[in-house]
Amino acid sequence: MTPKEIKEIINKYDKQNLTIGTIGSHSALNILKGAKEHDFNTLCICQEDRKITYDRFDVADEIIVVDEYSDMLSKTTQQELRQKNTILIPHGSFNAYLGDKVFDINVPLFGNRELLAWETDREKQHKWLKQAGIKLPKVIENPSKIENTVIAKFPGAKGGKGYFIANSEQSFKRKLQEMKQKGHITEEDIENVHIQEYIIGVNAYPQYFRSIVRNEVEMLGMDRRYESTVDSIGKIPAKEQLEIEVDPTYTVVGNIPVTARESLLPEILRMGDNVVEKSNEIATPGIVGPFCLETVFTENLDIYTFEISARIVAGSNVGIGTSPYAYLKYNENMYMGKRIAQEIKEASQKNLLNKITS
Ligand code: AMP
Ligand code: AMP
Repeated sequence: MTPKEIKEIINKYDKQNLTIGTIGSHSALNILKGAKEHDFNTLCICQEDRKITYDRFDVADEIIVVDEYSDMLSKTTQQELRQKNTILIPHGSFNAYLGDKVFDINVPLFGNRELLAWETDREKQHKWLKQAGIKLPKVIENPSKIENTVIAKFPGAKGGKGYFIANSEQSFKRKLQEMKQKGHITEEDIENVHIQEYIIGVNAYPQYFRSIVRNEVEMLGMDRRYESTVDSIGKIPAKEQLEIEVDPTYTVVGNIPVTARESLLPEILRMGDNVVEKSNEIATPGIVGPFCLETVFTENLDIYTFEISARIVAGSNVGIGTSPYAYLKYNENMYMGKRIAQEIKEASQKNLLNKITS
């Protein structure tokens, strides 16, 4: 479907009877709870084994169970979604489970579809962030050029699975084979490996919201990830670490809230503004709604960004209810899922739904 056809669909929707829908995983509780708080109908698409979560927390008015996530692209399901005036909220599972098929969704998506494609293309991301004046880790084009500590990454939102650290071409090659043997990565992943300078510092992931309706960029929360095995290595004494030859990996298990030293906020806020400003140029109207910069803060308080997500991140789940930054801005119960619903509500009242969906 062309962008024009999607606009025609949203223009015909019954604005008094909108449904907010998403895939049941990642940040669906956050999104659906927020939608319910703003009195939208809520709909969750998930596999049978995930249904318990949405039943138990009672956030979905309706659950569509599918065998495979790609089944949601069937003509009948898409038609059903459109009949229910559904706006789908994309999150990490859309890329993980649908891949490029995300673009075959013939239902209005909240956000800018064009930028969703940038999520999976590291080169495009790099260009965007660089042009926005963001500090980035160096990219190492060839393993033979490894001179310092690097991190090896693999495509897609795999949640850090199989990532490893290396110091030389030799250790890089050895670890690549080890990861393959352990079943963390495939031959195809190896062909698409991405090697980055490893930045020593602590991670923080500020979560922003770009409002088209209110014409502002907000910062609603911050988190860091809780990753296995890297966050458990400190529990093993150094001597035993050497004995068992443990290699840190980055499989994400959860998220932990973070607040930043206050003097870091001007830079964090400016980074969000700059990324939005640049996004307007590369894919008008630029970022719509939530986005997140994945950063490392060094001992000199330099902030390096190694990735951007131009959609809601699961780290915003730490703010369900409220977070310090959301409280500072809104006083009351506010969080990313609810902020999305609020934007949809305000856009609907002002006849701007076609500006925030694609
Ligand atoms: P899942 O449905 O849990 O398998 O997650 C779908 C995708 O989102 C995967 O690529 C995960 O790595 C990613 N993901 C899920 N939860 C989180 C989280 N809490 N933090 C970061 N990424 C996540
Ligand atoms: P990602 O899947 O790209 O979000 O990365 C997973 C994890 O790898 C992050 O949470 C960080 O702990 C770590 N990481 C990624 N890139 C870098 C980097 N360039 N320097 C240091 N740590 C990194």
